[in-house]
Amino acid sequence: MEGRKVGGKKIADLLRENVKSIPEYVPGKSVDEVKRQYGLSRVVKLASNENPYGASPKVLEAIRRFEKLHVYPSPREAEILVERISEYLGVEEERIVIGAGIDGILENVFKMFVDPLDEVVIPIPTFPYYHTLSSVMNANVVQIRRRADFRIDYELLINSVGERTKIVIVCSPNNPTGNLEDPDTVRAIVESCNALVFIDEAYAEFASSDLLKLSEYENVVIARTFSKAFGLANLRIGYAVMSEELKRAYMKVTPPFPVSSLAMSAAVAALEDLEFMRSCVERIKAERARLYRELKKRVKVYPSEANFLFFESHLKARELVEELMKRGVIVRDCSKFVGCNEFSVRVSVGRREENEEFLRALDDVLGCR
Ligand SMILES: *Cc1c(COP(=O)(O)O)cnc(C)c1O
Repeated sequence: MEGRKVGGKKIADLLRENVKSIPEYVPGKSVDEVKRQYGLSRVVKLASNENPYGASPKVLEAIRRFEKLHVYPSPREAEILVERISEYLGVEEERIVIGAGIDGILENVFKMFVDPLDEVVIPIPTFPYYHTLSSVMNANVVQIRRRADFRIDYELLINSVGERTKIVIVCSPNNPTGNLEDPDTVRAIVESCNALVFIDEAYAEFASSDLLKLSEYENVVIARTFSKAFGLANLRIGYAVMSEELKRAYMKVTPPFPVSSLAMSAAVAALEDLEFMRSCVERIKAERARLYRELKKRVKVYPSEANFLFFESHLKARELVEELMKRGVIVRDCSKFVGCNEFSVRVSVGRREENEEFLRALDDVLGCR
């Protein structure tokens, strides 16, 4: 329903121009929607890089025991979680912040640095929320194409950083392409840019190396999350490592209660059961290797250091994704990601039987066997 009009005003006219220009976010279809739409009883979702094994039983237990819904989170709860993250990473507590997922952390970091007409350098294709936030802040996005292997083109990046550049985005492993950045290249970027380098390591646990060491630089923020390897996507909780000085500024701009006590106690329980997370990661990596080999027989697939694979078939992504959906498998059409081509698709690595179902549906669509 449209809102009730007051006099001759139209409230939408008062929206900031940059907000009007942001395309509406179209989330992927849910399992229930696809079941209803196609009359299917079983649907597999491999579209959002979630942990197919769910959260640790210890997390579920902590959530069942939780009762303090009527009070605001206490600062002590955040302190306890920061202590546990500090032990997990081997980084001092004074340099760790928590937030409402990496998304919430990104929002705070943009609030800290980005004025209208400032520049944000974004290697494309990548995670779309960096673009959205840049638009919200009225910043100018400087897009730079990745190399053929999807690594950042160092020369191009350095030449794109200017007087007004405030943030340079480094996503590693990169979503949706799955590749890691070379640590020496990222170090060189950090050392030669007079800007904040935001390193998004949402998939660090699945990768063979990480960039955490670079958090020693004063112009680096490294963001991590409980959404992917720890299986807590619905609780909206992430964290970041930065200098003590940046943390002080961060604490000024963050909303007072960005993360619920429920989410914080779940995250503490998740860190007390690293064995569960590591066993999920091992199973996912084994399946990733198998799925990669299988996809290689059928399509152009790229190596991945995350919990998803990026591929191109001879069918347009829109058509392929639609046809897979009819067969009960939801994957991500990336053709609308800035910098992707019209064949780009991303599939999350699921449980073995889910991946098998995906491969069967893919064969059916591509007309193999
Ligand atoms: C999933 C994802 C995020 C979002 O993480 P949340 O902690 O759930 O907000 C951020 N960055 C990348 C690259 C992602 O793929």
